[in-house]
Amino acid sequence: MSPSRALLLFVALFSLVAALDASAGDADPIYRSCVEKCESSGCVGDKCFQHCKFSSDGKPIDGPWYLQEPLYLRWKQWDCQSDCRYQCMLVREEERQKLGHKPVKYHGKWPFKRVDGFQEPASVAFSALNLAMHFHGWLSFFILLYYKLPLRPDQRIYYEYTSLWHVYGLLSMNSWFWSAVFHSRDVDFTEKLDYSSAVALLGFSLILAILRSLNVRDQAARVMVAAPFIAFVTTHILYLNFYKLDYGLNMKVCIAMGVAQLLIWAIWAGVTRHPSRWKLWVVVVGGAAAMLLEIYDFPPYRGYVDAHALWHATTIPLTYLWWSFIRDDANFRTSALFKKKK
Ligand SMILES: [Zn+2]
Repeated sequence: MSPSRALLLFVALFSLVAALDASAGDADPIYRSCVEKCESSGCVGDKCFQHCKFSSDGKPIDGPWYLQEPLYLRWKQWDCQSDCRYQCMLVREEERQKLGHKPVKYHGKWPFKRVDGFQEPASVAFSALNLAMHFHGWLSFFILLYYKLPLRPDQRIYYEYTSLWHVYGLLSMNSWFWSAVFHSRDVDFTEKLDYSSAVALLGFSLILAILRSLNVRDQAARVMVAAPFIAFVTTHILYLNFYKLDYGLNMKVCIAMGVAQLLIWAIWAGVTRHPSRWKLWVVVVGGAAAMLLEIYDFPPYRGYVDAHALWHATTIPLTYLWWSFIRDDANFRTSALFKKKK
């Protein structure tokens, strides 16, 4: 077994172990009752929150009439919940630390310290850089195809995977946008949007890995391959949003889809004569190593930089290389088809 394959197997096995103890913090009854109490009284100990001032019928006690609109009320509820969770987490973590316990996760996340209202400034910055990298990669891919490479006599593009990579680019940018939003402000809907976008991206890139590596060019065959994955991913997203946001299950689904596509690219890189296959290798090995960070999750250093933030940092150079591979692939396929036409 080659070292990279051994590494992938290792990732797959340990992912299952890691997924089992996701979010112990919010299962803690002391934390739960603290949040519950805070949401009704607006206070944790002697710290009280402005956002939690509701009267018994659910309307804000003060403020002019235009601020009593339902939308504003919902914002207040979100703010209240988030402040309560944050304060209860700090209190609970302090108690736990005194008892000599290690930090635990709350709602899928480590206890972070806020900076200027940003919950995880490092992850926000890295998400924004990932977004910028994808935009740059996608734009240069676009320019290459439409302005630099030769076109077919009917003005169409030679490269057969163009539209798939366009969708990939859009889903990636969407996913990193919501990742940045979620890491700055963790409320119910930003969390769902981040998780849903990430699942959609992972599902689509798995389909893309299969279609590209098996050279599926026929439209009907592509639909046949994609349909079961689209059905599964859609069901999973609906389940997370409207039934239960199950962190453990979601982590298993995401890691399974992530490991599957890394394996597919690795096998393809091993058998193909593609001139840029070394870039595939670097992305696969780098991606697997980055995934280890997400799996061997450690609590934030001084409350700021955790494994998840580092994971977002490592994908920045990998994204650059990945789009460079995509451009090479477009070049490679186009010149092959162009020569054939001549
Ligand atoms: Zn993230």
